[in-house]
Amino acid sequence: NAVVKLINVSKRYYISESIYVDALINVNLNVYRGEVVIIMGPSGSGKSTLLNIMGMLDKPTSGRVYLDDVDVTDMSENELAKLRLLKVGFLFQQYNLIQNLTALENVMMPMLMSGMYDEAMAEAKARYLLELVELTPYVNHYPNQLSGGQQQRVALARALALNPSLIIMDEPTGALDPVSASKLLALINVLNKTIGVTMVIATHNPDVAQIGSRIINIRGGRVYETGVVERINVSS
Ligand code: ADP
Ligand code: ADP
Repeated sequence: NAVVKLINVSKRYYISESIYVDALINVNLNVYRGEVVIIMGPSGSGKSTLLNIMGMLDKPTSGRVYLDDVDVTDMSENELAKLRLLKVGFLFQQYNLIQNLTALENVMMPMLMSGMYDEAMAEAKARYLLELVELTPYVNHYPNQLSGGQQQRVALARALALNPSLIIMDEPTGALDPVSASKLLALINVLNKTIGVTMVIATHNPDVAQIGSRIINIRGGRVYETGVVERINVSS
């Protein structure tokens, strides 16, 4: 069964009353439990819009969005914020860590915000997650005391904190040097294989695409499965 289901999703941005951009056009897409889905496409093709809708950060202009078989399309911003915290982890190119909190405190934050963990439980789980991403020696470091690769691994541990149904990543290696990038990818791969976390990753980087179980191409707001695009090209 699908973690995320998009049915006929379109997104139109109005620049003025009569000028608009169709960022997504009739997108139908299922992401199944345990998959790593890669989204590839040129700049401006609609990747971020697609990720934002799958992560419930934004709503479609038309169509329906399901998360864990619940129709979230018409939920209020308040309900969506709660659902995002509990069910969706995010990893962006910029690590978005809270600068005046340590690595440990950054990872504890979503657990404390959820009200589902007391301080001691949150700390124990945060230490475990930071061990998974190989940062045990750095738990008390602040973000500016860590390399980019280390900061992104803290962000990954934070994304895992509430056992999300889905982790959404937008160019997760975009700001990393090649060594840190491949270390992050290896970890993502292991986490998917061991914990079975479902992930959707938008990227331009072919090395990132390597870890995917499926590649989705997007062009001008339309989605194509890999292979379909090639067949269209061959016959035209
Ligand atoms: P990508 O992530 O692949 O670069 P985006 O989803 O950011 O693509 O953008 C898809 C299209 O929608 C682009 O033409 C972009 O200019 C347009 N777009 C994105 N966000 C907005 C916005 N907030 N207002 C108007 N147009 C937007
Ligand atoms: P990784 O490959 O895990 O990202 P690096 O080899 O880049 O780690 O960094 C090794 C060590 O150097 C880290 O423990 C970190 O403390 C320190 N370091 C690296 N880059 C920076 C930076 N920009 N600012 C502060 N410390 C850094």
